[in-house]
Amino acid sequence: MIISTERQKRPSDFRIDRVTALGPEDCPFCAGREEFTPHEVLAYRQNGSAANGPGWDLRVVPNKFPALKVEGSLEREAEGMFDRMNGIGAHEVIIETPDHAKTLASMSEAEIERVLWAFRERMLDLKKDIRFRYILIFKNHGAAAGATLEHSHSQLIALPIVPDFVREEIDGARRHFTAKERCVFCDIIRQEMASGTRVILENADIVALAPYAPRFPFETWLLPRRHGARFEDAPRQEYEGLARLLKSVLMRMNRALESPAYNLIVHSSPFTEETREYYHWHVELIPKLTKVAGFEWGTGFYINPTSPEEAARVLRDVRL
Ligand SMILES: [Zn+2]
Ligand SMILES: [Zn+2]
Ligand SMILES: [Zn+2]
Repeated sequence: MIISTERQKRPSDFRIDRVTALGPEDCPFCAGREEFTPHEVLAYRQNGSAANGPGWDLRVVPNKFPALKVEGSLEREAEGMFDRMNGIGAHEVIIETPDHAKTLASMSEAEIERVLWAFRERMLDLKKDIRFRYILIFKNHGAAAGATLEHSHSQLIALPIVPDFVREEIDGARRHFTAKERCVFCDIIRQEMASGTRVILENADIVALAPYAPRFPFETWLLPRRHGARFEDAPRQEYEGLARLLKSVLMRMNRALESPAYNLIVHSSPFTEETREYYHWHVELIPKLTKVAGFEWGTGFYINPTSPEEAARVLRDVRL
């Protein structure tokens, strides 16, 4: 990890790929277009509305959209694993709202909480299939983040193996626990709350912070204060707290960084491992502000031109 201070930039200096909303013509995720998606596996519906018709607030459908299958690098990687495993897996799309124009940042806190609740319900359901070891939940917002459909959606991929980037984080957390008998994420939260310089926002349940060694400018982690390894086992108030903080952080990024594209990833424990003592679920949010140059891909180093202290200060200071 290299933080290059000579290249320190103000938010307005970033070359930004702005998200532009396309019209809802031909969008398969809009209300009234249910015939263009596979049958729903979960839907939150208004009373009396029939399955696979209009009258829904949120729908989850199997991913049969060729465009979504090639969206970003994360799902290309996951799809690669999927193929190697002879297609054992599940790939679903969470259509977060019937309204084409809404984004996660412009949804109400209750609507965001509903999205998080759908993640949980699908995880609990897919977990019953003992072939699955890991469920990857992520969101690509905006073309620069790899999104190929404008309508606000997240994706879920259930895998019979644990992806490498998850493996590395879990192994690191286990090593820390073995050495110190403490959860590394609980340690981070304690240290960051004490110093305060990298804390963006907090509420009773969740802390949003700029990590000490960010890989990308304005990388943001949202962690529950209470120790817990599994997203799907979190108590209800943590989804509520996460929805509130997520909305505020996204609105702040929109204001300070000119509505950037972003990737959001839920990091949670694999199903088949007892990680209760040393892993701590969280959400990682990475705005797409700079193109990753060849140097960074080639060497595995990331050059981050904004310090985490500066990023936290910029987001904290936004007036909403
Ligand atoms: Zn739409
Ligand atoms: Zn912890
Ligand atoms: Zn993580």
